Amino acid sequence: MQKVNYHSHTYRCGHADFNMSDEDYVKEYIEMGFKEIAFTDHAPEKNKIDKRTDMRMEYDERKDYLNSINKLKEKYKDVINIKSGYEIEYLPGEEENMIELKNEVDLLILGQHFIYDNDNNLKIFGRHKITDEELLRYANYIDNALKLNIPSILVHPDIFMLSSNEFGETEKEITKMICESAQKYNIPLEINLNNIYSRTYLRGIDYFNISNDSKKEILNKISYPNKEFWNIVSNYDIKVLYGIDAHYKGQILLFNDLVKIANEIIGKDTINKLNFIDKL
Ligand SMILES: [Zn+2]
Ligand SMILES: [Zn+2]
Repeated sequence: MQKVNYHSHTYRCGHADFNMSDEDYVKEYIEMGFKEIAFTDHAPEKNKIDKRTDMRMEYDERKDYLNSINKLKEKYKDVINIKSGYEIEYLPGEEENMIELKNEVDLLILGQHFIYDNDNNLKIFGRHKITDEELLRYANYIDNALKLNIPSILVHPDIFMLSSNEFGETEKEITKMICESAQKYNIPLEINLNNIYSRTYLRGIDYFNISNDSKKEILNKISYPNKEFWNIVSNYDIKVLYGIDAHYKGQILLFNDLVKIANEIIGKDTINKLNFIDKL
């Protein structure tokens, strides 16, 4: 089992479990035998661009967030290595603010949930229809962020499938672009487990105890990990790791089952070809 996880949220983002304290997450990680983790809550924006509520902490909540992590770091240092971080989106013009955040924490992860359209409105995966031009922009944003050495991991790189009905030519093309960037700048890609969790256990569905037809139906609704995406990744020299993207009580405890489902989706042949790492 992978003993590290660099993708974890807190109640501050507004859409994670309100009853889970930061320490509650740490306790679940310890129970599962994790040796190194990072809190990477959705980064606050100095310039408010994402106008949605309940998506990220306020800019002035950073101090409380970092204080809390530092306390836990110290308290549990003999059991687990705790890092501080943020999950950020790259947006052109915001580079300085991203680097400012990077300097406050141990690491940033890039979870590119949106891109600008031609009128500088945010197009959000899973919420908006995304054009081919915008898909290409997604890959360009990732390349820019990696080139500037902003994130340490690219998380759910296949999140664009939330807005695509099928893995067509443009999806193929941008997957190759993303792989070229990840290989060139040596940035690991994350197989994200949160969409699987949201479609199963979060809804009370015990995946390994349902009929094959029900399994099929559920797998059809899971946008990422995407089989074709990871098949392309496996042809490159790219580091890969799983990420829980924890938002809820009990989610971390399901790590092994979620990995099993991810592997079922991606397929054994591809999984065997991927270059999994033990640790950042
Ligand atoms: Zn979230
Ligand atoms: Zn996340």
